[in-house]
Amino acid sequence: TVNPVAIGIDLGTSGVRAAALDEDGRQVAFAASAFATPDEIREPAAWWRGTEICLNMLAAKVSLAGVRGIAVDGTSGTVLALDRDKQPIGEALLYNDPCPDASVIAAIDAAAPATSPARGTSTALGRAILLSRREGVAHVVHQADWIAMRLGEGEPVSDENNALKTGYDLSGESWPDWIERTGMKRGLLPHVVRAGTKICSVGSLARELGLPPSCLLFAGTTDGCASFLATGASERGDGVTALGSTLVLKLASDCPVNAPEYGIYSHRIGDFWLVGGASNSGGAVIRQLIGDDRLEELTARLDPGRPTGLDYYPLLKPGERFPISDPHYPPRLAPRPADDAVFFQGILEGMAEIERLGFERLTVLGAPRLASMRTVGGGVRNSAWREIRHGKLGVPFLEPRSVEAAAGIAALVLRQENKH
Ligand code: ADP
Repeated sequence: TVNPVAIGIDLGTSGVRAAALDEDGRQVAFAASAFATPDEIREPAAWWRGTEICLNMLAAKVSLAGVRGIAVDGTSGTVLALDRDKQPIGEALLYNDPCPDASVIAAIDAAAPATSPARGTSTALGRAILLSRREGVAHVVHQADWIAMRLGEGEPVSDENNALKTGYDLSGESWPDWIERTGMKRGLLPHVVRAGTKICSVGSLARELGLPPSCLLFAGTTDGCASFLATGASERGDGVTALGSTLVLKLASDCPVNAPEYGIYSHRIGDFWLVGGASNSGGAVIRQLIGDDRLEELTARLDPGRPTGLDYYPLLKPGERFPISDPHYPPRLAPRPADDAVFFQGILEGMAEIERLGFERLTVLGAPRLASMRTVGGGVRNSAWREIRHGKLGVPFLEPRSVEAAAGIAALVLRQENKH
């Protein structure tokens, strides 16, 4: 077997995964370690344990002696407090933990610019502020930062992608002055570099896990950015749609697009910007209206060559963010035909139209026109939906190279490593 040169570690919601790539970007080994209990997602020690297990599993499959670089991605917005010895203080606050202190959200809303991704009720900065009040705190870092720091055994370093929703200013390339007015002490936040920047050589913990002393640690990214990179999308106009519980659109752009009213922000990755938006429509609507038990039977009876003309806007309750920004936007699911297969097809056609509108919206806001499509998520297995979408989007549909975020972060390492 060919031995790997780049390793990516993905800290996800269900556990830790690791991918090892060879010189040509081919995956030569993969490892996964699921969290033993649902609580482990909050426990930094469990993240590290999962990392150790995955690296040991890789080392059992291939030689790590030739690995030249490693990096880590984590769930975007998961933060933890560290003491002076860089040990975690208590549990982490998760990406989807709402900020229980309304005064913190109010302070952010008062201080942050109107376009800041740090605003809103799910603010990562809000969680960082809560952590900064813990006894003995010396650092507040993101999930990926902490695992990377253990691999490098240096000071905490973050990347622009993880830092974006904590309030980092991409144009000023610094933690902005207004952060101090929210009650957050800037000195607690990590130094930030661009995703994929070389940080340092790996430390003794990583060497004990089989990585050679010459292996470099690179700055990581978020799980969302890593998933995009995993598909192989990287050129201007490359789009990726996730047909999961929600409908998430991403597009590689040559310029950033920010439209907070649509929930649109841009991440800088290497030499492109990743622009994205999420609709409230998606698989969760299918699950509720059709039911998992009937999917197979009804999918087989879809007839994409004969459009239903139903013009649905499938939502479970009023309110849409993107591509239409209207907190009261009504679901459109009537009339309901007698045949559930026709009803299902109407829902899929409606979602395909939302997807088409979404990419059109991104283009209107300044992103390039969609040029290619790679699709991920549970909806991929529905080939009739693919046909409906292909007809609407009118661009080549390509197979994703991988759907594993770990492979995406490893690909970033490989790309950066080749620059040195
Ligand atoms: P998540 O976003 O929760 O990770 P997945 O990517 O696993 O979700 O996708 C799950 C979704 O895929 C479910 O909501 C389900 O309705 C949808 N799905 C599964 N099979 C089909 C199908 N044949 N046609 C359309 N949707 C499907």
